[in-house]
Amino acid sequence: EGRFEIVSKSPRSYPVETVTRSGMGGFWGPELKYAGYDALIIQGSAENWVNLWIHNEKVKFCDAKDYVGNDTYTTQKKLRKELDPEAKILCIGPAGENLSRLAVILSETGFVSGKSGFGAVMGSKLLKAIAVRGTKPLKISNPERMIEISKRVRQLSANNPMREWTSTLMIDSVDRQAFLNKYRKKNTGCFGCHTLCFAHLSVPDAGESQCHCIGYFYYSAATKYYGHSLERDQAVFDSIVLANKLGLDHYEFYSMIRFLEDLYNSGNIRSQADLPLDQFGSREFIQKFLENIAFRKGIGDLLAEGSARVADQIDNGWSYCSKYFPAYGSAEHESPRNNPGVALLWALDSRDPIIDQHPYARISSTFQKRPFPYRLSPEVAKMIAKKIYGSEKAIDHTTFEKKPEAIIYTQNRSAVINMLVVCDWVYPIVLSYTSGEYGKGDTALESQLLAAATGHDVTENELNLTGERVWNLSRAIMLREGRTRENDTLNETYFRNYKGEIAIPKADFEKAKTNYYRLRGWDETKGWPTSQKLNQLELSDVADILQ
Ligand code: SF4
Repeated sequence: EGRFEIVSKSPRSYPVETVTRSGMGGFWGPELKYAGYDALIIQGSAENWVNLWIHNEKVKFCDAKDYVGNDTYTTQKKLRKELDPEAKILCIGPAGENLSRLAVILSETGFVSGKSGFGAVMGSKLLKAIAVRGTKPLKISNPERMIEISKRVRQLSANNPMREWTSTLMIDSVDRQAFLNKYRKKNTGCFGCHTLCFAHLSVPDAGESQCHCIGYFYYSAATKYYGHSLERDQAVFDSIVLANKLGLDHYEFYSMIRFLEDLYNSGNIRSQADLPLDQFGSREFIQKFLENIAFRKGIGDLLAEGSARVADQIDNGWSYCSKYFPAYGSAEHESPRNNPGVALLWALDSRDPIIDQHPYARISSTFQKRPFPYRLSPEVAKMIAKKIYGSEKAIDHTTFEKKPEAIIYTQNRSAVINMLVVCDWVYPIVLSYTSGEYGKGDTALESQLLAAATGHDVTENELNLTGERVWNLSRAIMLREGRTRENDTLNETYFRNYKGEIAIPKADFEKAKTNYYRLRGWDETKGWPTSQKLNQLELSDVADILQ
């Protein structure tokens, strides 16, 4: 499906930079495989700016001084001309060069590794781009079986609501269909994926880009400023395209602009030349805002550090920031309020957890709220919860009961999909919208695909165990960096009532955490994997280090 996973210490994570993950889609990952590689490890840093060029077995670093300052679209265009018109390219824009914690790694017009700030990691290595061309054949152990399973995957995930829904997620219902009809040229997606969840749009005098989900981060602000008009659509598109070109993360901005608007409306910050908040919602505002962040000009130098670190520097900053950023400096993505399972997912990760654990959020919440034909009926949701997580209570928002069990399953499976480099918008297939199979799913398909690809028989349970092993290893790395039970939490705002939203009950939350540690085989008071658990998972070397 074109996915791949990047792992590094994250400049974005707050308050300490911690090792975490960030996946991305597109065509670069498969190209690397066609060049004959399963993974790249990039250590250390260059002395001057370089591009890395991988053409099958030939690997070389090339001088990149002529690329410094180029935006991501220009960088890719120039590199294809210089190296190979078919090369697939990962690159950073000015934001990554200037070490913004909001910098992404981007490919094409909008496949990104976004929320972990890994663009700044490439920038710190003086690595502007990685271009790959691979023309080797792929060996598949059992191609017939692979085709058979792929057909089943397509059958079960046909009518996946992600296609139409996420391609316009942030757009209100008044505009959704009109917006697509007016501007969509086609749906696009990652290598080999039939879901095609991106819309490729073109807006007059604003540019072209593929977009989905949070890409429309400026939509509400621009609608408030311009109303429903072409100017509004141009401002929205400017924000999408400009952030992509500068190499900045849409997700952060969805929350950051609301945080800044609150600070402005409450008199805690003023409108100024480099942050014209009196024009909030306009085309002029978003252009200046994004450019100043990418080039660290004026107040952009502080904003480039990300909202959590901005909040540290501004009077009353956290009073306004915390409701948009539940933990680790990650912008809210599925509110932990009113959903105890999501609260635990947030508290027990190193970053926004939903990004690769969508299935739980969908069954327990989002798909139940969607309009026809995307809506999942509560009865079917309960049936799925019982089958997948062992109890209907796993998605009952009134209690923390059965949430630790559901969360452990979800985390282990997210580690599995990241290892297999498949997309969590498709896998595990916990439900189907296919007529005649509505509500059904098949969570064994990943293990069958792996067996067909490699020739090694792997059961679903063995795959889950591997996921558990990865999750324990990640936990051990977090502990090595100082993580404690006390850090497994959310910003205090979430434990208080706020604007009609009910507080998460702290005592129940803490009890559920203890239960989670126990079920994981971890020390209940500290949240550390026990030696016994690590030995059982064949991680005795890790157990020795943790002693
Ligand atoms: S569903 Fe996943 S793999 Fe498919 S196009 Fe969308 S992001 Fe890419």
